[in-house]
Amino acid sequence: MNNKNTFKPIFFSSLIIFLIMLVSAIISIIINVKFNLVPTLPNNKILWPTINLYIVSLFVGTIISVILVKIILPPIIKISEALMEVAKGNFNIKINQEKHPVKELEKMSHNFNIMMNELNNIETFRSDFIANVSHEFKTPLASIDGYTMLLQDSDLTEEEKNEYIDKILNNTKRLSKLVYTILQISKLENQGIIVEKRNFKLDEQIRQALLFLEPKWTEKNIDLDISLDETTFYGNEELLDQVWVNILDNAIKFTSDKGIISCTLRYSSGWITAIISDTGVGMPEDVQKHIFDKFYQGDKSHSSEGNGLGLALVKRIINLCGGIIDVNSELGKGSTFTIKLPY
Ligand code: ADP
Repeated sequence: MNNKNTFKPIFFSSLIIFLIMLVSAIISIIINVKFNLVPTLPNNKILWPTINLYIVSLFVGTIISVILVKIILPPIIKISEALMEVAKGNFNIKINQEKHPVKELEKMSHNFNIMMNELNNIETFRSDFIANVSHEFKTPLASIDGYTMLLQDSDLTEEEKNEYIDKILNNTKRLSKLVYTILQISKLENQGIIVEKRNFKLDEQIRQALLFLEPKWTEKNIDLDISLDETTFYGNEELLDQVWVNILDNAIKFTSDKGIISCTLRYSSGWITAIISDTGVGMPEDVQKHIFDKFYQGDKSHSSEGNGLGLALVKRIINLCGGIIDVNSELGKGSTFTIKLPY
């Protein structure tokens, strides 16, 4: 901010204050004279000193207001200029926080910087999100493109054709799952409460999720250790179903052949607690910290089987239910997910 920028507003605000004071002085003098409020002695002995008083207070008042405007206006102009930059799309702007006699103005600069920090985070998140979505789309699209071109070859055997069609179908499924999950996360993020609630049996729902995933765990010869208390929950059945399917799917995915997955469901003192553990690969602490972030994949060896959105969706659903999800894991030993839901 340069002097030219501050001079104009300070000059105009002082001029306006001067004019207001001048007009009120003139009005006051006219009223005094018209209604004879100041006794007019011979030779205007009282009237003239009164007018002089008006003129002196007019100048003193104007000088004081110029000084005040000069103190108050600069930080306001600074913020106004910074806001103009933000309007142009520049989010990397910060205001130097200087000490100011008006504490509210000092606070205003501080709050502006906090706001810019938040905006910057949102902007980084938005651009990261777009980059991640584009990246997740690119791989299956490239596969579909490649296999479709291969299918155009007329010398293909029936077996090759079927293999390529299978690959195309798998990648189409992957794409539609990705789109569905992104839409669902964004819908749930804009939603403050869960609607369409009803009573349903949680233990039965977990059993159904395990049944749905049966081909996957039987293929890996995984043993199940299940102990589910009969528990009724009031919530959105469809959303909760995705919680169990996602966590159990991960448990199967990250557990090697002949591993064990255990599942318990208990109710005590106002909370329903579900614990799902596996004897799989486990996670180091730095991975555990990020598993609920969107598009985060700690274990890249299975990256093509997921999109890093499953646990972000799970966390959002649990939060909307007023619950808590927690992970405990040890590299090479396994992972335990604990979900607490308010009864
Ligand atoms: P993905 O589609 O990659 O499975 P998720 O959001 O479901 O995405 O999981 C994020 C990451 O959390 C996974 O990439 C993996 O590194 C880690 N993870 C989740 N569940 C487990 C588990 N049971 N065992 C080990 N790692 C897990």
